[in-house]
Amino acid sequence: MKKSHKYIFVVGGVMSGVGKGVTTSSIGMLLQSCGYKVNIVKVDPYLNVDAGTMNPTEHGEVFVLDSGLETDQDMGNYERFLNRDISSNCYMTSGMVYKSVIEKERSLGYGGKCVEAIPDIRDEIIKRFNFAGDKAHSDISIIEIGGTVGDYQNIMFIEAARVMKIRNPKDVIFIMVSYLPVPGKLGEMKSKPTQNAMRMLNSYGVQADVLIARSEVGMDDKRREKIAISCSIPKDYVISAPDVDVIYEVAENFEKGNLSKIILNLISLPKKPLDLTPWKNFISKVKNVKKEVKIAVVGKYFDTGDFTLSDAYLSVIEAVKFSAYHSGAKAKLTWLNSKEFEKDSSKLNSLKNFDGIIVPGGFGETGIEGKLSAIKFARENKIPYFGLCYGMQLMVIEYARNVLGWKDANTSEITKKSDHLVIDIMPDQEKKLLEKDFGGSMRLGAYPAVLKKGTVAFASYDIDKISERHRHRYEVNQEFIKDLENAGLVFSGTSPDGKLMEIAELPKSKHPFFLGTQFHPEFRARPLSPHPLFSAFIKAALKK
Ligand code: GLN
Repeated sequence: MKKSHKYIFVVGGVMSGVGKGVTTSSIGMLLQSCGYKVNIVKVDPYLNVDAGTMNPTEHGEVFVLDSGLETDQDMGNYERFLNRDISSNCYMTSGMVYKSVIEKERSLGYGGKCVEAIPDIRDEIIKRFNFAGDKAHSDISIIEIGGTVGDYQNIMFIEAARVMKIRNPKDVIFIMVSYLPVPGKLGEMKSKPTQNAMRMLNSYGVQADVLIARSEVGMDDKRREKIAISCSIPKDYVISAPDVDVIYEVAENFEKGNLSKIILNLISLPKKPLDLTPWKNFISKVKNVKKEVKIAVVGKYFDTGDFTLSDAYLSVIEAVKFSAYHSGAKAKLTWLNSKEFEKDSSKLNSLKNFDGIIVPGGFGETGIEGKLSAIKFARENKIPYFGLCYGMQLMVIEYARNVLGWKDANTSEITKKSDHLVIDIMPDQEKKLLEKDFGGSMRLGAYPAVLKKGTVAFASYDIDKISERHRHRYEVNQEFIKDLENAGLVFSGTSPDGKLMEIAELPKSKHPFFLGTQFHPEFRARPLSPHPLFSAFIKAALKK
């Protein structure tokens, strides 16, 4: 008999932003640490076919998988918590689902039938859930349904899950991640929003089996009792999940409430010994840091209304922290809006207070001159500098302008009117832009690169062939490579055919660390295996 596959659906109650992604990832970490093969699927209910066309201030970071699929930042969390790559079958949006159903209809794939949301959209979703599990050869699929219970957008996904539960009651469970506010003036933890969220879920015909109760502080017994009774969940299955300092500790916290045992029991899988040793070792490193390393991130996707959010650079932040922890330091990150340097150049001097400067990826014209002055400042004042994608392209422009003296050096992303477009559109990209083919059309995903011996890049990786994830349309213009090299810039990593410049750097004799990558190393940084380039950057920053 074919072993049945298990499905754990994670839905959110009350409001967004309470850590459903981290909860889902932590459940994955727990079950994987019990020796089960786990895959995690993210459902994004929006109509965009992927996350690539969304502004990061709207939606947070666009996380790129090996395959090149542009996804939600939660996918990055899954990879970091499971400590492995995740395939594109594990990501879906409403747009993706509807697109495939409509395309099938257009090619007469439904044989003249009337095509409807129920059953056709629902069944397409179920097909995708099953496919993701099959392809991953996993025992358990954990499926995070984006949004909150009560949204119109995610109803079809919850409906698909409900039908799967009806068909295979022993193999499917629901976990609701809810929020228990403690309003400042009251000083009491309130459970009513959670009760209402559960009632809303019930109105869809779904009952949660487990409730993860997120809150600032731990939950007391009185509240647990109340929630258990009102939400029809056994008291022991209401798990308290207070805020923690280190998100990688959440799994261990869940275990205080026996979560792995509860889940395995519910999906009828035998309990196996749980081994969280690698994570415990990592957390002990985090808790025993002796120094601090101050890193400035000069970007522009921070402001949303009156608030500052760093979500757009989530993987960069995590990558810096991991490398710092593994060097015995805590990274203190500061967000600097590059537009500020344009308004007042004297603010550049504040960069002296940092041990290292990062210019992350980005698009378009705003804030560019500010970033260029920050890079110049880092180069001239020998402050370790790490440029990611746009941060590498701008580093090349800065070098061309201020070392080669080509004052008009630029990227064709910003202007076509320059004799020194040191960054230019990739040949196959030009047509796509003309045809307004913007979705999923950049150079995306994992590509190999070869490293030059004797360089900072080579010394960091300690291998000569690497593979890294990309997301760009522009590249270093081959026409100017010789001039840039003659002026001292080293292209230490290139595509295997030597045509694409993947890493630019200054030799150690000239600068403690001045390096930029055309790819996004942050997507490959993991808590248990920090990224070699981030680690080299942090080491240089610590020396400063
Ligand atoms: N805008 C640049 C390009 O498209 C850099 C992209 C990025 O930083 N991800 O090439």
